[in-house]
Amino acid sequence: MKRALVNGAGGFIGSHLVRRLRREGYWVRGVDVKHPEFSESTAQEFLVGDLRDPKVAEAAVDGIDDVYQLAADMGGAGYIFTGEHDACVMHNSATINLNTVEAGRNAGVKRFFYSSSACIYPERNQMDPDNPNCVEESAYPAAPDSEYGWEKLFSERLYMAYARNYGLEVHIARFHNIFGPQGTWRGGREKAPAAICRKVAEAPDGGEIEIWGDGRQTRSFLYIDECLEGVRRLMESKFQGPVNIGSEEMVTINQLAEMAMRIAGKQLRLRHIPGPLGVRGRNSDNRLIRKELGWAPTAPLEDGLRSTYEWVNLQVHTKDAAVAGTVK
Ligand code: NAD
Repeated sequence: MKRALVNGAGGFIGSHLVRRLRREGYWVRGVDVKHPEFSESTAQEFLVGDLRDPKVAEAAVDGIDDVYQLAADMGGAGYIFTGEHDACVMHNSATINLNTVEAGRNAGVKRFFYSSSACIYPERNQMDPDNPNCVEESAYPAAPDSEYGWEKLFSERLYMAYARNYGLEVHIARFHNIFGPQGTWRGGREKAPAAICRKVAEAPDGGEIEIWGDGRQTRSFLYIDECLEGVRRLMESKFQGPVNIGSEEMVTINQLAEMAMRIAGKQLRLRHIPGPLGVRGRNSDNRLIRKELGWAPTAPLEDGLRSTYEWVNLQVHTKDAAVAGTVK
């Protein structure tokens, strides 16, 4: 039985990845500073530990064939773009990656997956909301708009350097806004789809919800199942990347909110307020993934948003019911 390690297995993508690998027949060890928030991990072994500690990173890779490195100090725009967390984001995530790749090399791990981000792309190519350029080679000359993006770029290069100098097999994906059930939906680290689903679920019909900025900034959002399909296909390929794993269905934030309202069957007004925004426009460019893997995500955004809305709606109303004392 092949043995896989998922670093960040207590997080959103990591906990789903553990389930997927188990379904494929892997023996899985998960590592994280915390257990998954919304369901029990399905990993055969779950180490609660801090990967900034080299000893934890060493214990994590012991006896492992494939490493999936997803642990990072991250969050949505409310966490990354305010500047308040810059030093932590850079120090924590870089240390996790330095420890993981070095421990993996020493333990003889052969294959590594590293989760980079669309946040590495230069701001100058993402000023026009209708025509953002996120083709992989546009990453250089580098100019990410956040320290989170700079750390991701550094770590991409770290894994590629280990591949060059030590012969490791490395696969790097740049994720574009992954969303789905069992993701953070409140507390400041949630991303736009979960935040909008929560606001729509909480608002009374005919009420209003707040949107950061003018809502005309564009993004694409990829449902978790297709993200994992891309990760597994990339890992089984000969292609190192970095390659985008994202959707090409670009929408404005206002359109995303309207879609959520349609799903919920509610009419709400949008109130635009100042807030941390990130770039004006961003979309995945899937030409490279199509060429290299003969595959790219195709599922409509609305399908994924529907299952996400249903799940967030349940969280919101279970919470309300619990507060009201109707749910034990
Ligand atoms: P997440 O925050 O839900 O998961 C990351 C996990 O890493 C968390 O459970 C956290 O506790 C863990 N972690 C943080 N510091 C740790 C440490 N010192 N030791 C051990 N564990 C630690 O995030 P996610 O959305 O599941 O993202 C997974 C990866 O994908 C991250 O590397 C992220 O940067 C990348 N990514 C995600 C998206 C997205 O849209 N979700 C987009 C681009 C890139």
